[in-house]
Amino acid sequence: MSSSSALVEKLISALQIMPGIGPVSAARIAYYLLDRKRQEGVAMSETVKYALEHVSLCPRCRNYTDVENTECELCSGTKRRQSGLLCIVETPGDVQALENSGSFLGTYFVLHGHLSPIDGIGPQELGFPLLQHCFEDPVLKEVIIAVGQTVEGEATAQFIAAMAHKRNLKVSRIATGIPIGGELSSTDGHTLENSINFRRPY
Ligand SMILES: [Zn+2]
Repeated sequence: MSSSSALVEKLISALQIMPGIGPVSAARIAYYLLDRKRQEGVAMSETVKYALEHVSLCPRCRNYTDVENTECELCSGTKRRQSGLLCIVETPGDVQALENSGSFLGTYFVLHGHLSPIDGIGPQELGFPLLQHCFEDPVLKEVIIAVGQTVEGEATAQFIAAMAHKRNLKVSRIATGIPIGGELSSTDGHTLENSINFRRPY
């Protein structure tokens, strides 16, 4: 793709860093910004720059926080820690989803991925030394493993469970099964199998 301006080409190329944005979508966005949203585009780029330069990881849970070396809002309140519950998730988006559901009032730990030796992601990259430190908190009673239901997620869950068992902590894994409003006939076999195996008294 070529245009009359090297700067436009550079903009189109830069926009392709976004997930799901190929050359055609990038060109559409670039021309939209140039044609109609110059001011807003500049404001957005300043917001992006500031956030990317300043958002850092909470030294306790590895979720995003505004101030470097300062615990995030969810960690700094004592009420959540007193619950004795620690929920381990793969991404900051997972924390957001759980917070939006209002279903969990403990603290979190964000792995930023799952074990994947082929991609060079091991215990160090997932912050396991810091997680080990969290496990030493005397207030902590139960570790809830809320990583994805994938092969890598399962391997990651097993690794974490072994670490937690060594500390004599109660370990649980989030349930799998039929979604609310879902029907058995349209549910895949693995999910059905899990919902039978992990059925609960009623
Ligand atoms: Zn935190």
